Amino acid sequence: MVIWGLNTSPNCCLCDLELEYRDHLFILCEVSTAIWNMIFSRLGYSHLTLTSWTSLQQWLSRKDSTSPRTLKRLAAQVTIYSIWTERNKRLHEGVMATPESTFKLIDRHVRDVILGRRNRKNFMNLMLCWLRHE
Ligand SMILES: [Zn+2]
Repeated sequence: MVIWGLNTSPNCCLCDLELEYRDHLFILCEVSTAIWNMIFSRLGYSHLTLTSWTSLQQWLSRKDSTSPRTLKRLAAQVTIYSIWTERNKRLHEGVMATPESTFKLIDRHVRDVILGRRNRKNFMNLMLCWLRHE
């Protein structure tokens, strides 16, 4: 919006400390990092840190024994959506949620998607995986 000449702050809506760009907003911002840390902990990754959008893509495409890729992708999709929603709520409504309450919404959303697709082959055991490290 700044590039288009709109008179708006170029700073991140979550922290107001850095310029808002994709890697910062979704990955590097302290608010996003706090949310990702809760997601990684829930998925069973104890020492995972993302450094860029590319590192997120690499983690998502990597097969490992910690968490099924379908669950990683679902959790990441809901997390990205939730960070974007939180950003827009702060920008347009002046309403702020803590990373903990955003994580609770993500948790609910992930559970709902798994329940809704529980008869699909890729989703059959995902609820156990999602709740294993609760
Ligand atoms: Zn930020």
